[in-house]
Amino acid sequence: MSQRYRIAVIPGDGIGREVVPEGLRCLHAAAEVHGFELEIAEFSFASADYWQRHGAMLPPDWREVLGGFDAIFFGAVGRPEVVPDHVSLWGSLLQFRRGFDQYVNLRPVRLLRGVRSPLRDHEPGDIDFLIVRENTEGEYSSIGGRIFEGTDRETVLQETVMTRTGVDRVLRYAFELAAGRPRRQLTWATKSNGISISMPYWDERAAAMARRYPDVAADSDHIDILTAKFVLQPQRYDVVVASNLFGDILSDLGPACAGTIGIAPSANINPDRTWPSLFEPVHGSAPDIAGRGIANPVGQIWSGAMMLDHLGEPAAAARVVAAIESVLDERPDVLTPDLGGSGTTGSLGGAIAAEIAGGP
Ligand code: ATP
Repeated sequence: MSQRYRIAVIPGDGIGREVVPEGLRCLHAAAEVHGFELEIAEFSFASADYWQRHGAMLPPDWREVLGGFDAIFFGAVGRPEVVPDHVSLWGSLLQFRRGFDQYVNLRPVRLLRGVRSPLRDHEPGDIDFLIVRENTEGEYSSIGGRIFEGTDRETVLQETVMTRTGVDRVLRYAFELAAGRPRRQLTWATKSNGISISMPYWDERAAAMARRYPDVAADSDHIDILTAKFVLQPQRYDVVVASNLFGDILSDLGPACAGTIGIAPSANINPDRTWPSLFEPVHGSAPDIAGRGIANPVGQIWSGAMMLDHLGEPAAAARVVAAIESVLDERPDVLTPDLGGSGTTGSLGGAIAAEIAGGP
């Protein structure tokens, strides 16, 4: 009997609803070729429509509803004219990340053939690294507040939380990842020369982890110079691991260096597999282009490839990525406007699905 995977699909809002069907089309094509089955259950929550009907982004039992799936395939959330972004995001995606302990946010940054980098003088192969972002603690804790001393004296405090467990587990994941790659190089982002409590601790734990992986060449960069080097010397990096805030910044900068945000994939991973992991493109719901059929579906399709890899289908995952790359390189007629073409979401997604089905 063929292997069967149960996937929860949440299209969300805006272009999420346009790119998720293309992602599914490609996943089904890969399943057909590689002989496994995908059982899909689609959910309408985590969207502005759901919020309008229920006054919440998620049903109260969302954890039971989603917890038994093998993975979650997510589009994008956000329709700011209906629900403020901080409400929709905190009410859905951030609930999943915390509730399902998806403590690693993994974002590959790779310049694909057929895509122009905004950086001059860079070829495919120059930009090919992984960003590992801590996804549950750090600067995104909601501890702190405003202290008033009289009407015009106000102090605002926001605290960073780092736990030994939280720091060590994301570092371990990153070192394991680096140890399995040909270059075996890892850089951790820091700012211990300015942030005097949390970052020296992060450095201390990273150095301790580095001693356990002598085959990985590990170093660190302060976040300010690291962002400059992403632009000036992207070929220097292999695996980059960062705390929540630094990782957030790096993982928008990285995909921008690799062409367009429309192609960038991401995975919110629970490495212990106690709960499902969630796969989503880096981009958001893009209200400015929603409904026009021109959204680039590659970020969603590539996130689907990451999901296949996580499920234990690395050959199918590699086939999807290879199909993306050959279509981007060889089919200018189907490229979406962000890639300089005049194609549609459907024409690009369809061409990739056909390549997966019929490619070598
Ligand atoms: P979020 O904060 O949720 O990331 P946002 O509105 O700040 O949302 P995006 O939705 O990612 O950011 O959009 C940023 C810009 O990138 C917009 O101009 C949008 O049109 C463009 N964009 C995003 N995704 C795509 C895509 N798949 N194809 C083409 N353009 C895209």
